[in-house]
Amino acid sequence: MKLHEYQSKQIFGRYGIPVPKGRVAATASEARQIAEELGGRVVVKSQVLVGGRGKAGGIRLAKTPKEAEDMATQILGMEIKGLPVRKVLVDPAANIDQEIYLGITNDRTARRPVLMASAAGGVDIEEVARTTPEKIIKVHIDPLLGLRDYQARDIAVGIDLPKQYWKQFGEICHGLWQAYLECDATLAEINPLVILKEKQLAALDGKMLLDDNALFRHPELAEMRDADEEAPGETEARKYGLSFIKLDGNIGCMVNGAGLAMTTMDIVKLFGGEPANFLDIGGGASADKVAAALRIILSDKNVKAILFNVFGGITRCDEVARGILTALEEVKPQIPMVVRLVGTNAEEGRRLLADADMTTAETLADAAQKAVAAAKA
Ligand code: GDP
Ligand code: MN
Repeated sequence: MKLHEYQSKQIFGRYGIPVPKGRVAATASEARQIAEELGGRVVVKSQVLVGGRGKAGGIRLAKTPKEAEDMATQILGMEIKGLPVRKVLVDPAANIDQEIYLGITNDRTARRPVLMASAAGGVDIEEVARTTPEKIIKVHIDPLLGLRDYQARDIAVGIDLPKQYWKQFGEICHGLWQAYLECDATLAEINPLVILKEKQLAALDGKMLLDDNALFRHPELAEMRDADEEAPGETEARKYGLSFIKLDGNIGCMVNGAGLAMTTMDIVKLFGGEPANFLDIGGGASADKVAAALRIILSDKNVKAILFNVFGGITRCDEVARGILTALEEVKPQIPMVVRLVGTNAEEGRRLLADADMTTAETLADAAQKAVAAAKA
């Protein structure tokens, strides 16, 4: 789950990280009011769950409350990378001397979290990572020992941070680590962490990704979810306990089991197709779950064919077939469907589907080839 900048900064603030004292607004007049309360220059920032807002014109400086209102009007009417802006954050404007990157994420290869920083922070950090990766300094954190003081200092030295900031930088690193750990985050990032002209550090941007599988431990964080900003299918899938991830291809895949779902996607690609999604309906999926899965797949207008790949173990093929039939009655899809059913009660499942207008296949290779051909036709 992605958090908005304003939500991430609220959390960072609780962990002692210095963040600007701004507030979020849903209308331009609210933005004006916040600007009046803050006094002086403000920065009006679009709150959308994508990066690169600055470059897209979604971050603007305003000298007066009136200007803040005008900018909020403009920004609230924008779309950034396809996402409509529904909220803006109004923060007091900062006088920036230097922009630093600071972030913690999981390094799967090292099997531990990694703290990263760069003196070349700001909007071009991706470019830095690509062209001059040596400018990004990293230390791995032992999850049992936690972040040690010397590690934060090593980073400070690595990015040539003037010594007068080391103490505050260390506190920010520790705060970020605690926030990452206690919220079960997979990313906690400040870009930019700035050196202000007033000789202080401040977190001007914030980004957190939380591990969905740990959200049950954090009801107060789970409530921060902004369903408006999610791909609609993903919200629906969560409701039915389906693992669904939307992708860019045109072959909808409905599979039981995550491993089998990945294999199915690979085989679709092998035969020249592109999967429209990853979808695991899980073991023992009931008819209504299957129906929900089918509705989700069909709500994607890119889908030109559907491939059902069901391996009946705990899941019974006849139950899946009933789910498919229920869903077909409801949604009446006009697109070709290919189904491969094997395992428990497969015979019964195939018999049930015999009357439905579906192509059947014996092997996965056969099924994938038929689905790819159907999507191209
Ligand atoms: P992003 O583009 O989505 O990462 O949004 P950021 O919050 O990082 O803002 C992008 C850039 O806007 C920052 O790197 C800063 O250069 C600039 N910026 C953000 N807030 C302020 C501010 O209060 N004052 C000034 N002068 N610049 C700011
Ligand atoms: Mn940023």
